[in-house]
Amino acid sequence: MGTQENIVFLEGALLGSHDVWKASGHVDNFNDPMVDCLKCKHRYRTDEIDLEKSCPHCGNKDWTQPRQFNMMFQTQLGASSDNSSVAYLRPETAQAIFVNFKNVISTTRVKMPFGIAQIGKAFRNEITPKQFLFRMREFEQMEIEWFCKADDALAYFEAWCQARKEFYQSIGINTDKIRLRQHATDELAHYSTACVDVEYQFPFGWKELEGIAHRGNFDLTQHSKHSGKDLAIYDEETKQSYIPTVVECSVGVDRLFLTLLFDAYYEDVVDNETRIVLRLSPTIAPIKAAFLPLTKKQIEPMHKIYSSFKKQGLSVQFDESGSIGKRYRRQDEIGTPVCFTYDFDSETDNCVTVRNRDTTTQERISIDSLDAYLQNLLSK
Ligand code: ATP
Repeated sequence: MGTQENIVFLEGALLGSHDVWKASGHVDNFNDPMVDCLKCKHRYRTDEIDLEKSCPHCGNKDWTQPRQFNMMFQTQLGASSDNSSVAYLRPETAQAIFVNFKNVISTTRVKMPFGIAQIGKAFRNEITPKQFLFRMREFEQMEIEWFCKADDALAYFEAWCQARKEFYQSIGINTDKIRLRQHATDELAHYSTACVDVEYQFPFGWKELEGIAHRGNFDLTQHSKHSGKDLAIYDEETKQSYIPTVVECSVGVDRLFLTLLFDAYYEDVVDNETRIVLRLSPTIAPIKAAFLPLTKKQIEPMHKIYSSFKKQGLSVQFDESGSIGKRYRRQDEIGTPVCFTYDFDSETDNCVTVRNRDTTTQERISIDSLDAYLQNLLSK
């Protein structure tokens, strides 16, 4: 079942009116339960703490009653400050897709089934932001809403689960540390028939990296009702209108970035020295190759080769400073898969030394074959 084609992109607003977030259910339900320690005033999410035990911060056991805390950041639009001007910073990118659904189908040539994708900031007033990029109050999300007919939705849901697994594999994440956890029935939202968390085994446990959800037609139905605009589409085959069903994939970009760092970070010993190496897949490594002249004498010819790759748009670095060993370590730390070194022999044999980040092995290859060498490396 094809899912990757037929996707259009959108950049929606960061601020949404009270009515939009009321319709989506966020005003009433986007809550985390919290408690405070009455002695030291530390605040916790109730699902992250055992209330039968003492406060991990001060050791006392004197809790407030658990209460619901809405995680949206509220603000006012315009000069008046009555209820009608209340707005919220978006806690997810998805709703901008639903409220623009009709704009998209009337301005692009999409045909069912199709997807609308968005990447951008989301804001949540997290009770306990922590673990570096894992939980923040301001973060980047990427979401796809896949619109299809109700009868096909379960098959698409499964196709998306498979496609997302393949995505993580394609960017080199160790698949032994990825698992798909099916939500139990009591975890599901009332409108949802299936939901899976893609989890990664972080050093602090298995945690959600992405959510994949069969959302029924809840969102479009709600926005239709609250806005008075009909968001149904007309089916030429059956000559009937219907509200599409949605399968959603939702990932935190920062959380994915953190995952890549944990997954690729290694310390090993090379030449009796501990080195830090990021074993990033060449497809995801920020710098694909580094070009190193052995001495000042080789700067000019090596810079020429480097420039030719830079001009092709490849993300490459030129580094002439420090010993060659130091330069290799620098590239290891940022995950550059290969370094090319131009030395005294290069002028006569038209070759450079390629040094592999992971194995640290070196081989000599012709300068004329560098293009093919890099293409091969990046296609893996
Ligand atoms: P969690 O249970 O970790 O709070 P969630 O179930 O509330 O996450 P979703 O609403 O499904 O998360 O959001 C989709 C994705 O957005 C998550 O899988 C995660 O990658 C990312 N995400 C959510 N909240 C945050 C945050 N505070 N900081 C960074 N990324 C986040």
